[in-house]
Amino acid sequence: MQGLMQDWPLRVSTIIDHAARFHGDREIVTRSVEGPITRTTYKEVHLRARKVAQALGRLGVKEGDIVATMAWNTSRHLEAWYGIMGMGAVCHTLNPRLFAEQLVYIINHAEDKIIFLDLTFVPILEGIADKLPKVKAYVVMTDKAHMPDTKLPNALCFEEIVEAEDGNFKWAEVDENAACGLCYTSGTTGNPKGVLYSHRSNVIHSMAANMGDALGMKCADAILPVVPMFHANAWGIAFAAPAVGAKIVMPGAQMDGQSIYELLDKEQVTVTAAVPTVWLMLLQYLEKTGAQLPKLDRVVIGGSAAPRSMIEVFEKNYDVKVFHAWGMTEMSPMGTLGALKAGMEDLPLDKQIDVKVKQGRAIYTVEMKITDDDGNELPSDGKAFGHLMVRGPAIAGAYLKGEGGNILDKDGWFDTGDVATIDAQGYMQITDRAKDVIKSGGEWISSIEIENLAVGHPKVTEAAVIGILHPKWDERPLLIVVPKEGENPTKEEILSYMEGKIAKWWMPDDVVFVKEIPHTATGKIQKLTLREQFKDYKLP
Ligand code: ADP
Repeated sequence: MQGLMQDWPLRVSTIIDHAARFHGDREIVTRSVEGPITRTTYKEVHLRARKVAQALGRLGVKEGDIVATMAWNTSRHLEAWYGIMGMGAVCHTLNPRLFAEQLVYIINHAEDKIIFLDLTFVPILEGIADKLPKVKAYVVMTDKAHMPDTKLPNALCFEEIVEAEDGNFKWAEVDENAACGLCYTSGTTGNPKGVLYSHRSNVIHSMAANMGDALGMKCADAILPVVPMFHANAWGIAFAAPAVGAKIVMPGAQMDGQSIYELLDKEQVTVTAAVPTVWLMLLQYLEKTGAQLPKLDRVVIGGSAAPRSMIEVFEKNYDVKVFHAWGMTEMSPMGTLGALKAGMEDLPLDKQIDVKVKQGRAIYTVEMKITDDDGNELPSDGKAFGHLMVRGPAIAGAYLKGEGGNILDKDGWFDTGDVATIDAQGYMQITDRAKDVIKSGGEWISSIEIENLAVGHPKVTEAAVIGILHPKWDERPLLIVVPKEGENPTKEEILSYMEGKIAKWWMPDDVVFVKEIPHTATGKIQKLTLREQFKDYKLP
């Protein structure tokens, strides 16, 4: 027997409709690319998104076409985002930190018809436009006064084309399973692959990602997504915040410690989310200036492992609750979040932090298990580690145009490429990327654990661990360290700090000091480049 409930398609346009109807006056504050802080509301964004949809129709965009954005987190980006998806087209977020050749590949592979871009990115696109035959127009997201003199073919001004419309537009009534968003994975091996989100997967993810034990946003919250909208939908915040009517504070192009602090403070932000590198800059700024964050309640840290020392500083020095999160582009992207379970709040803070260094529990809609090399499930005992497998309605089932072939096993599980443990309470901890684990004497060493320990040293800013070939043990860990400004730590200092805190045979064989560690376009340590850089390194 079938249920007898209404057939109400899960389309993302319902999110912005809801925000405008019930939270119409709630603000979206932006540090604009042109400079000044701008303010708008959900009602206004809703209207202007419909104008974007009309303008796209006038430019010949049809349902199912792909329209790209190369833009910072701003209210205009939000308007383009909902306008594109609302008219039934697919919003393809381009990561401007990718190399030019990768961008050319991605834009051509996706067959983007139109590209919306911020002023910042005019030079990038001018440099590659002649290799993008399918792009019909470039919409520069600014007003007439700031419109640049550009070589871009068919360059249009966002404010001009939007303000020419009346907003009298009805959202497209596409199937809830129709595509609405596209984001390419970084592609550290081979070409980047397109993850194609549907209306349904985005709506489900926005509800799942915002449950009480996940982002837990309410309409009274003010959220600052430092994580870019081009980085897996700003971790779902671009959908989840309007769905509850939370105020959004958009950082634009400025993500340094001082700029982020100013917004957190002036806009009374209660919740914020970013990768560890951003928090490193903020914490350095706070330490230098003595500034405090009395309004900030919680910070979500993900994308790379949050070091224990970082969690401790937020919790102990600033009374801000840390939620460690893990996910990936293929998961829309939220997989786990480290909220405490009943009774854990009564534990001493250090014991709570023992829990918070783990990447957290699966949010509802994410099934999760670890397996050995033969696909057998391993126990959730916090010790056994294996391949982290996931399944759920907002997890990729295939890549765009079938790239990479069949990506699910026979039971529909997706291999995340991460190696992890799961403890008896359900908290997952990432040991490593499968390709980054160090194999020493047949056993695995977790590079993440050593890195997190090393950055706890007061003279260390950042650390990376890679495996170096070893005649007896196959591989041994090499610790690469960026010292804090003005500090000159020695190898002995670092190693003696680590002694007793990890297994003896995990201790790095050597420590090297560098000025900088390379990062990927999404802010992760680029182990591939480091391994290349140190491939001839001789351990003592
Ligand atoms: P995103 O950075 O949006 O989460 P990506 O697809 O760029 O998505 O990268 C996903 C990978 O990043 C994961 O498979 C994992 O290796 C790593 N990662 C994400 N969050 C964490 C975390 N909290 N701790 C350790 N690794 C993480």
